[in-house]
Amino acid sequence: MATVKRDYYEVLGVDRSAGTEELKRAYRKLAMRFHPDRNQGDKEAEERFKEVGEAYSVLSDPEKRRRYDTFGHSGEQMPDFGSFSFDSAFDLFDMFFGGGRRGARSGPQRGSDLRMTLDISFEEAVFGAKRSVEVPRTATCPDCSGSGAAPGTSPRTCSDCGGSGQVRRAVQSIFGQMVNVTACPRCHGEGRIVGTPCPRCRGRGLVEERKSIEVSIPAGVDADIQVRVSGEGEAGPRGGPPGDLYIGFRIAPHPELARRGQDLIYELPITVAQAALGDRITVPTVDGQAEVEVPAGTQHGRTIKLAGHGVPHVRTGRRGDQLCVVRVVVPTHLSVAERKLYEQLGGRTGRPADVKRGFFENLRGFFSPSD
Ligand SMILES: [Zn+2]
Ligand SMILES: [Zn+2]
Repeated sequence: MATVKRDYYEVLGVDRSAGTEELKRAYRKLAMRFHPDRNQGDKEAEERFKEVGEAYSVLSDPEKRRRYDTFGHSGEQMPDFGSFSFDSAFDLFDMFFGGGRRGARSGPQRGSDLRMTLDISFEEAVFGAKRSVEVPRTATCPDCSGSGAAPGTSPRTCSDCGGSGQVRRAVQSIFGQMVNVTACPRCHGEGRIVGTPCPRCRGRGLVEERKSIEVSIPAGVDADIQVRVSGEGEAGPRGGPPGDLYIGFRIAPHPELARRGQDLIYELPITVAQAALGDRITVPTVDGQAEVEVPAGTQHGRTIKLAGHGVPHVRTGRRGDQLCVVRVVVPTHLSVAERKLYEQLGGRTGRPADVKRGFFENLRGFFSPSD
């Protein structure tokens, strides 16, 4: 399942102008609400907890926030941005509330998230597409099924924790009295101790692999949008759940159309005669050729709109327009016959009939009245 990464301000439910205190309040409220300790086993709450943490970690850092405001999610592809995992979400929470609750996480850990950038064509960005992507990542070892024990042997139960991998004790926390569960120090939370490590993964339970994954590119995708493919990140150590795969896009330019948000800009060159007399002109659009009506008396720089030929909005699917910006091309080389025709129009001495004297003409008239 692929989902589009949400805007950080939207995630925290704050204005783009929100100050430090407002961000803190929003994060405090949401992090408490979605904390996994309060939402046992609720996958959605778990995702929200991470999302809220990631949004806060970016917006509360002035440099990251500035970059996010400028580049959107694509700003995060820059090398020094760091990646945000479930562990980061818990670390942030612990830091924020000052509780040493780190120990509460034990047993199988979730795998890391992966990020990739996909090169796509202009048309794929406009209309969406399905692509298969090779993802290098760690996976559960097939020989030992992630146990880390050599085939034919099995890990033995840890005697310190009786196989649970956890040591429990009651603690006082911000949620009131809670049972603090820490990973067993002897078996590192595995509950089992491997006697003979699996030769293929050397006891790690994980191997490197390249997996081909089908990715849906949403129609209208832009460089600041990332798509999340749930559960296609790295495998979790000790049989933990996998991380997610985040895919960003690098979009090839179009030879004739430029994109501005949902609109497409096309420069429409016309002759002086077409500008004066009007014409119907065939232009390229992302939907194929279309006809544009250039009215008589069209001025240079005028915009003619082709409604609905733009880029669909990535969420609503509503399409923008194609804006054809008229460029009147004045001939630089005239044949004898053409020169005669222009001269007949009064090219040497005439003045545009319906245009007022320009500033420079007035100025020249002022300095040399005889001219
Ligand atoms: Zn193995
Ligand atoms: Zn143990």
